[in-house]
Amino acid sequence: MSVGVVRETASGERRVALVPKVVETLVKKGVPVVVESGAGLGALIPDELFTAAGATIGDPYGADVVVRVAPPADDEIAKLRGGQKLIGFLAPRNADNKIGALSAADVEAYAVEAIPRISRAQVMDALSSQGNVSGYKSVIVAADLSTRFFPMLTTAAGTVKPATVLVLGVGVAGLQALATAKRLGARTTGYDVRPEVAEQVRSVGAQWLDLGIDAAGEGGYARELTAEEREKQQQALEDAIKGFDVVITTALVPGRPAPRLVTAAAVEGMKPGSVVIDLAGETGGNCELTEPGEVVVKHDVTIASPLNLPATMPEHSSELYSKNLLALIELMLDDNGVIAPDFDDEVIAAACVTREEAKA
Ligand code: NAD
Repeated sequence: MSVGVVRETASGERRVALVPKVVETLVKKGVPVVVESGAGLGALIPDELFTAAGATIGDPYGADVVVRVAPPADDEIAKLRGGQKLIGFLAPRNADNKIGALSAADVEAYAVEAIPRISRAQVMDALSSQGNVSGYKSVIVAADLSTRFFPMLTTAAGTVKPATVLVLGVGVAGLQALATAKRLGARTTGYDVRPEVAEQVRSVGAQWLDLGIDAAGEGGYARELTAEEREKQQQALEDAIKGFDVVITTALVPGRPAPRLVTAAAVEGMKPGSVVIDLAGETGGNCELTEPGEVVVKHDVTIASPLNLPATMPEHSSELYSKNLLALIELMLDDNGVIAPDFDDEVIAAACVTREEAKA
């Protein structure tokens, strides 16, 4: 039983699936690790640190379990063989996902996005670990693009009021954005369609914006709003947004386009120099004026929709992701250190998105 760590090829992807500390843990458990040369370079980890941790540098596709960060490209799927296990972000809900190709190649694929959001699986929850990074970095990007200070400053030259920050969609990323903006000294407000979030918002020192819409869906996620609710929400947000220097949006509904929360009229109503950071660009964006992956200025408001923020902090993103993968691999190991996933385990069953036996 061996684990292979690939060198990521997606544009801008700087993370690596396993860091040397985690490689060392696996090797100590008797699991050999093969790392593709240069796999850690994006995260500033040279091959030598992997070999010092007990890995060998070689072809990761020869291993029993291949681990990666971003979904594989077609030529990478071609290197996998029947029965081999693959673990990574596989974007199973994206229309252009590679699940069909992996299934056709008889690969046993595990999508980290499909790990249930239950207490027992928190340690494996890569959506959360990477969402935390996105939330933190979104505030740093906002502060950089803002024409104003975040904290209140009292100086000999006068007093500057603290920035006001509104976070729309308070899941993992949104909660971290609120906490980070607060640490920078901003006055923070959070909004979500799941009423239970109010308490979490207050726990990080933010105010709760209540628009009277309850759209709690299944599994802790939100459901899509009805046309009537959407209209009510957009109108209410248009009024609320005017008062904020910075709006950070993170609202997602699984498998659906991102909800439009910030209309063009809402942007027009903001003070010149204000900033919108839209973290939902990959699924179309929460702001009507968002151009995914770009920074644009409309009505004197800067609208940024950075894609893959975790890749911009590859050291800590990789470290956290690595620990998520270690926990999942450990769950799959039997008492003899052999990888033997138990499909009666709800975490394994949910994470596995293609499996030869299931096809029969
Ligand atoms: P997500 O990324 O799917 O969505 C971000 C937020 O957008 C959510 O809070 C959602 O309610 C909100 N949203 C959706 N539509 C909206 C709209 N129209 N207007 C305003 N907000 C809208 O969320 P996530 O960060 O992946 O978290 C999903 C769930 O998983 C949450 O309930 C979270 O608490 C839960 N969770 C549980 C665990 C655990 O117990 N192990 C760990 C992490 C997350």
